[in-house]
Amino acid sequence: MFLPPVDPEAGASAIVDAPVVDTMGRPLRDLRVSVTDRCNLRCTYCMPRAVFDENHPFLPRAELLSFEEIERLARQFVGLGVRKIRLTGGEPLLRRGVEQLVERLARLQTVEGRPVEIALTTNGVLLARKAQALKDAGLARITVSLDGLSESTFRRMSDSDTPVQTVLDGIAEAQRVGLAPVKVNMVVRRGANDHEIVAMAGHFRNSGIVLRFIEYMDVGCSNGWRMDEVVPAREMLERVAARYPLRSADPNYIGEVAERWHYADGSGEIGVIASVTQAFCQECTRARLSTDGRLYNCLFATDGLDLRVPLRAGVAEDQLAELIAAGWHGRNDRYSQQRQAMAGTGAAVKKIEMSYIGG
Ligand code: SAM
Ligand code: SF4
Ligand code: SF4
Repeated sequence: MFLPPVDPEAGASAIVDAPVVDTMGRPLRDLRVSVTDRCNLRCTYCMPRAVFDENHPFLPRAELLSFEEIERLARQFVGLGVRKIRLTGGEPLLRRGVEQLVERLARLQTVEGRPVEIALTTNGVLLARKAQALKDAGLARITVSLDGLSESTFRRMSDSDTPVQTVLDGIAEAQRVGLAPVKVNMVVRRGANDHEIVAMAGHFRNSGIVLRFIEYMDVGCSNGWRMDEVVPAREMLERVAARYPLRSADPNYIGEVAERWHYADGSGEIGVIASVTQAFCQECTRARLSTDGRLYNCLFATDGLDLRVPLRAGVAEDQLAELIAAGWHGRNDRYSQQRQAMAGTGAAVKKIEMSYIGG
């Protein structure tokens, strides 16, 4: 097994010539960190209220990784090739002082000697209050989830009384403080919010904001996912293009999961993420660290590698790096590719909820 050389003096894995790769040759490049399993919305496709109610056993505070622990683990991931860290959840802005974590992580350097890019995905509810502090802390990119513009659609999707304007204000503030380009993610569920696809496109044209339409996925076990509720990315594009003609754009980098499109009249860019109809497992370089410190190699994983126990037991930095590298080295996950094959076989998989593992 290939394990990178480690310099214990450095407190992190030393520069590696060859990246750590998994069984399919995929390098470890991205890390998603779920900083809380709690949320101030109850999106029906993610944390349906019937399951995530007042009796739901959210993690007690002592089980959460502290900022110090996240930083320590993140340093090891970066030493193994990670270039981008995305904070997520649950709702990451609910984690008190999350900007302090951003500040710590923004100091990390990739093995190539460049700053690690720190990104965050949020529902935007607390963003107007937090955007400046996040920017000052070194956040490079922000993605805001918004599934509709009308109050009725937003309420139906988020199952909350929060006015949609609160999220729009958050987006505006993120732009104002210079967190550019802001991206907006819209999960599309047939019969629930697909009638707002074109309105969303119209709203964010000419704004500098990149809107991305996301196919509704079968994450977790609580959203009652059905294939007939998935609007294929092709169909979403057709609907937008019928109103606003589009031309395809090149990917920003190899392995980019969003397929990019420009409005033909130059009024901006949109993207589609076709996780269901066009699986991109072949290029998937993402590891996920759960709120309580488990490493998951796939959004649809059934089990994770506990890093918190060794971390709290005081193992050396190089041993942490070895654990992570070994976990990645044995990775053969490609759930989305296999989904089609499993369809109709009756095979059921116990999957981890997205709010815990990080979207
Ligand atoms: N609370 C934050 C938010 O909503 O942006 C961060 C966590 S959320 C789990 C991350 C992303 O996952 C969001 O963009 C959300 O829309 C997306 N997501 C959650 N459940 C999904 C599902 N079943 N299918 C597709 N995307 C989903
Ligand atoms: Fe909360 Fe985000 Fe899940 Fe919606 S998608 S319930 S905002 S974690
Ligand atoms: Fe990556 Fe798993 Fe999604 Fe495939 S199914 S793209 S391996 S997270």
